[in-house]
Amino acid sequence: MIHYDRHAVHDALTHPHGPPGLPATMERIVADKHAAQSQVPWQELRARVHAIKEYAIANLAWLLVEFEKQFSARGGTVLWARSADEAAAQFLDICKHHNVRSVVKGKSMLSEELELNDRLAAAGIDAVETDLGEYIVQLAGQKPSHIIAPALHLSRQDIGKLFAAKLGIAYTDDPQALLAAARTRLRQRYLEAGLGMTGVNFAVAESGTVVTVENEGNQALSAAAPPVYVALMGIEKVIPRLADLPPFLHVLARAATGQKLSVYTHHFLGPEDGRTWYCIIIDAGRTNVLADAATREALYCIRCGACMNVCPIYRRVGGWAYGWVYPGPIGSVETPQMIGVERAGELPFTSSLCGACQGECPVDIDLPHQLVHMRRKAVARGAAGKGIERSAFRFWARAMSSLPAYRRAIRLARFGAGLSARIGWKPGPLAAWTRHRDLPPIADETFKEWWERRA
Ligand code: SF4
Repeated sequence: MIHYDRHAVHDALTHPHGPPGLPATMERIVADKHAAQSQVPWQELRARVHAIKEYAIANLAWLLVEFEKQFSARGGTVLWARSADEAAAQFLDICKHHNVRSVVKGKSMLSEELELNDRLAAAGIDAVETDLGEYIVQLAGQKPSHIIAPALHLSRQDIGKLFAAKLGIAYTDDPQALLAAARTRLRQRYLEAGLGMTGVNFAVAESGTVVTVENEGNQALSAAAPPVYVALMGIEKVIPRLADLPPFLHVLARAATGQKLSVYTHHFLGPEDGRTWYCIIIDAGRTNVLADAATREALYCIRCGACMNVCPIYRRVGGWAYGWVYPGPIGSVETPQMIGVERAGELPFTSSLCGACQGECPVDIDLPHQLVHMRRKAVARGAAGKGIERSAFRFWARAMSSLPAYRRAIRLARFGAGLSARIGWKPGPLAAWTRHRDLPPIADETFKEWWERRA
């Protein structure tokens, strides 16, 4: 089960495979992205996809109904789910109805929201992830640490040991040999599976088409090999027309992996004879994001991961520290809206507000302002900035509001710092704060004092 947990950050900082290698990896990914985006009119494409998403989210109600109409006309069945629990129950009902004992899963972060693997296992249904990164973290009994590269936190040596232990092969850290071992096992699973599922990158309202993009071919096999296919789709995935798709394909692959285009773009057009298709359209807290005009833009997200790759906080702590499915700046905006400000109100504070996330976002989502808005919301609901922190900021706000008060506060701080240095003691909260940080010394005189002394 995934639960938001503020203490997860400590685990992430002390995890042996975690953050140390992350910044260099992120640098490489970002450099590839910049090279790829320099080949196209990037700002024009960003403006275009932003405008399409703005229209789609503003017209969500009728676009989703139109998608349902067209998908149904092609022979599929659409189910609607208000919550993750409801969606998971519908998925299990489908499995029961078709007597499914084995499921192959294409990559879907939404299925992580539903905690689908655990729920299927509890129902005695064997589910296997077929995306290589997801397969690795499933074998390791872990959760993805990045939305595009789920096993980013593991080295090939880690994976070699894992495959030796779990798949019974001789240890190797040769990527091709590891890939071949995974492929051999997964092929058999496609043949045995009673149901395949994938996430949805885009849902085209005018045609009822489910579009997925990927590099490995596993989504096509998950959708096409078993007799039953289920697409799990968040309400924000719908776009109006097929003609709106190309600019998204241009920016998504470039922003996610630095590729010009993903290796495969699938247009699932409807079931052939003898096969059954479902699409579960899921809210699961997205209408909370929609209802708040200040965060509505977060629903324009196309899940490329670029904001995580440049975020100085993500680079330091990795994805698990955020404690829920979506890490990084977009997760820090969406998670409190989706699972409750009371549970995850501290997440918007995991940002330096440097603005790099918006600069890299292919949809130009104004993440910094949304983070500030969510901070305000969390403080107003008492979910952050409690106790001593609140008192300290009140004191500082008063000190900053008048020059004499500011000067008195600086003198007091200087005296306190000097005393603390002399007796070697710090008050509890300050001692905790400085355990992993240096507190810069307070200057002997302020600039203004120095200026006045000179004059
Ligand atoms: S917010 Fe933007 S950069 Fe971050 S994952 Fe979504 S689309 Fe990508």
